[in-house]
Amino acid sequence: MSTLRFNAVEEASRRVPVEVATPDKLPSEYFGKYVFNRERMSKYLSKETMNIVLEAIDRGTTLHRGIAEHVAAGMKMWAIEMGATHYTHWFQPLTGGTAEKHDSFIDFAGGPGENIIERFSGKLLAQQEPDASSFPSGGIRNTFEARGYTAWDPSSPAFIIDDTLCIPTVFISYTGEALDYKTPLLKALSAVDKAAVEVCRLFYPDVKKVYSYLGWEQEYFLVDEALYAARPDLILTDRTLMGHESAKNQQLEDHYFGAIPPRVVAFMREVEQEAYKYGIPLKTRHNEVAPNQFELASIYRDTNLSVDQNLLVMTLMRRIASKHRFRLLLHEKPFAGVNGSGKHNNWSLCTDTGIGLFTPGKTAYENLLFVTFLVNALMAVYKHNGLLKASIMSAGNAHRLGANEAPPAIVSVFLGKQISAVLDKIEQSSRDDDITVDEDIKQMKLGIAHIPEVLIDNTDRNRTSPFAFTGNRFEFRAVGSSANCSSAMIALNSTMASQLIAFKKEIDEKMERGMRKEEAIFDTLRTYIRESKPIRFEGNGYSDEWKEEAQRRGLNCEMSIPLVYNEYTREQSVKMFESIGVLSEKELHARNEVKWETYTKKIQIEARVLGDLSMNHIIPVATEYQSVLLDNIYKMHAVFSKEKAAKLARQDAILVEEIAEHITSIKTNVDTMVEARKKANRIESAQEKAIAYHDEVEPFLNVIRYHVDKLELIVDNQMWTLPKYRELLFIS
Ligand code: ADP
Ligand code: MG
Repeated sequence: MSTLRFNAVEEASRRVPVEVATPDKLPSEYFGKYVFNRERMSKYLSKETMNIVLEAIDRGTTLHRGIAEHVAAGMKMWAIEMGATHYTHWFQPLTGGTAEKHDSFIDFAGGPGENIIERFSGKLLAQQEPDASSFPSGGIRNTFEARGYTAWDPSSPAFIIDDTLCIPTVFISYTGEALDYKTPLLKALSAVDKAAVEVCRLFYPDVKKVYSYLGWEQEYFLVDEALYAARPDLILTDRTLMGHESAKNQQLEDHYFGAIPPRVVAFMREVEQEAYKYGIPLKTRHNEVAPNQFELASIYRDTNLSVDQNLLVMTLMRRIASKHRFRLLLHEKPFAGVNGSGKHNNWSLCTDTGIGLFTPGKTAYENLLFVTFLVNALMAVYKHNGLLKASIMSAGNAHRLGANEAPPAIVSVFLGKQISAVLDKIEQSSRDDDITVDEDIKQMKLGIAHIPEVLIDNTDRNRTSPFAFTGNRFEFRAVGSSANCSSAMIALNSTMASQLIAFKKEIDEKMERGMRKEEAIFDTLRTYIRESKPIRFEGNGYSDEWKEEAQRRGLNCEMSIPLVYNEYTREQSVKMFESIGVLSEKELHARNEVKWETYTKKIQIEARVLGDLSMNHIIPVATEYQSVLLDNIYKMHAVFSKEKAAKLARQDAILVEEIAEHITSIKTNVDTMVEARKKANRIESAQEKAIAYHDEVEPFLNVIRYHVDKLELIVDNQMWTLPKYRELLFIS
């Protein structure tokens, strides 16, 4: 009998919810208590310093050393009062997740041996040089100039975790190239701000800034820690590489929005309480479609901060899950046969004067602005649909996309009936139509005066669309649950910025040629609506017809991940990123190198783990059960006549053969997979190697799994060592 598995099942079944103390204060009273936010700043910084910092945050101006000194002094005072002893620059390397290296505040007051004091200077706040030579750089840093440095991002406030003051920073190479996600994100946000302001000023000259907003919805699985510990594949790859479907999984749809299990509620409550202390406005929590799958979502806010908060929430969730004897799975597809996890990125643009640029307005004039941004977003997504797909692609997310539950691996935009009708009307209009749009005129012929009422009541939802308009924002649904949202947000905001620049240029030219402003706008929008039509799709994104149709429309349908990344280095993408100063060609190439290496390593690890599990867990157990069967056959023959024994032991004999066949298949496929891996490992080029892993190694994962899962159905349940799907998915 497999003791590990059954002990784990027993342990997991016996568990009770971990007690979570109810805070004696309201969330609003302790919200942001671990964050050096505006409230703290006003307490610990002089008015003058604070104003300069706020100016830097709001206007993106740079801070000089003197100011950093003042901020550091205030921050240190606060941090020490809060019990912090260490500080760290908190950054986002291309490996995913966040990185930190802690330094203590202590230092000698003068030379060595003198009194110890707590020191934290402006220099330490502003810049650090972590010995970060082992972070991937895609060849930008070779080892003898391995230094990269981190630099303070004042627009995301510092916070305290345990005893450490964490300072959000960018991470760049000595020669100035981005080695992280934050650097290009900040540049993309600034680019879209500038470009959008220019377009807004065609309508409202008082607009000075446009914010990009992000609201994420984080899906995840929880698995009991004892069961998790008995699954080496979960421990090492974050997903199950084998496991036969449970008789019951999600077919009854009784989990979605169902009552949340008590242990999970306790976990969620603690995550929320902690998140509030970090100023993260978690708003919703619920069960998701798959068993043991859940979701939490935060209220949207400025994209840079929202990204950081999502990363911090993932860290908090992981820690709190352990406390509740769970393990958090953020993999996009931890279990075959049930839904995977995504992270919808709700995205919008908003002016400093409070106009939501994807929000239909109350007058025709307001709605012309709305349609302008909507149509430009369509164009941006249309022109760069391949790039947007590349921005969300990863080894993990590839299992989820197109798996008949998640958005397909083809980017299209869903607008809904009302908006589509508005665009159709504009498209069919002609230059002779009355297009007088004035702030005072509430009616106009093109039907854009009355968008809001229809829409708010009727946000028809198309769950199969990877990029859906949902009334006042776009929802980029294809983003994976483990991703750093920056990747998608860099691509999206950059393409939008570059599109808006092109639009503004066209309008200016038309106006120079004597067209009235509205005429020029309508004229351009008409062309854009026509041109971007292939990106609009309102039908079922899961259907096979759509795949064929998308191919005909010329949308990117590439399924091989290592090839999808080529979208980043296509001439069109390089031009786009360089023209708005977000990423250089060199950086784009380097980042792809990292992506290919990461992909290769992920598949390599999965292949190794599967090989090991097959040979050392599965085959021995299957052989043991086989010999039990053989023993039975022998004994039948000892007791009964030859003929009768053969008849009675017939089923056993068939099973013995079936087991033998599966074992042989597993063994030969593992051997061939090892050979394929060895061959792939000899390839120099990172991309070629990733392609070899994708084409030659990865397919074996499914083949081997098939035979293992068949054996799981045959072998005596008592002998099976790995917790089964029904245990992993239904005990919580
Ligand atoms: P659903 O599951 O129906 O999409 P949720 O409430 O789970 O809805 O998530 C919606 C997300 O969209 C939240 O993060 C919310 O704050 C965000 N959101 C709402 N309005 C906007 C907006 N104008 N811009 C960006 N995000 C928004
Ligand atoms: Mg959503």
